[in-house]
Amino acid sequence: MLVNILKLSQIYMIDAGSAYAIHHLELQQMSPAHHIELSRMFSIHDWVEDPFRRLMDIDLADLTEDDELKLGYKVYRIITKTKEYISKQRKSAAQVAPPLTFLESYECVDHKTCREVWKDGWWKKVSKRLLHPTQPILLREVADYVSGLDFTGMTAVCKAEMVEFIRNNEGFRAEDTIIQQGIAAVVAYHKTLEM
Ligand SMILES: [Zn+2]
Repeated sequence: MLVNILKLSQIYMIDAGSAYAIHHLELQQMSPAHHIELSRMFSIHDWVEDPFRRLMDIDLADLTEDDELKLGYKVYRIITKTKEYISKQRKSAAQVAPPLTFLESYECVDHKTCREVWKDGWWKKVSKRLLHPTQPILLREVADYVSGLDFTGMTAVCKAEMVEFIRNNEGFRAEDTIIQQGIAAVVAYHKTLEM
């Protein structure tokens, strides 16, 4: 119904009708795939971001065939690639602890122990969360997560420096960058379909 109003309003350039339909459609709880389909049909590019982000939290195996058809091959492809890039980033971060070596502080008395505690704690605590199959920690959440962890044996100042290193490191903001690139790719594709 609202989709029909929007269709007619756009054909006959009735701005009030479009605004009415857009306003009410946005309030509806529609599936992200349907939302993206409508954004493509009506060239409403602002509608891509929210469902795209929701799709990042959905297991692709849970999408129905109807969802996939609504997304279309090109968009589905962007979504799968975006998910894969993110997964690769998380795995890489889990695999190798950020290096502690070059951050030795003059306040540290036993940096060798710091390194061991850090490496061990990273693998046992942080990696485990990064690789969690259903509720992984986001890369940008790692700094706060590490900050709250107990790394007994590690000098406090060394731990604090690592938290700061992670907080300021681009690699731990990779998800945001990758998702923004995915959203931009979908919008760019939708624009190619406009006459
Ligand atoms: Zn140290």
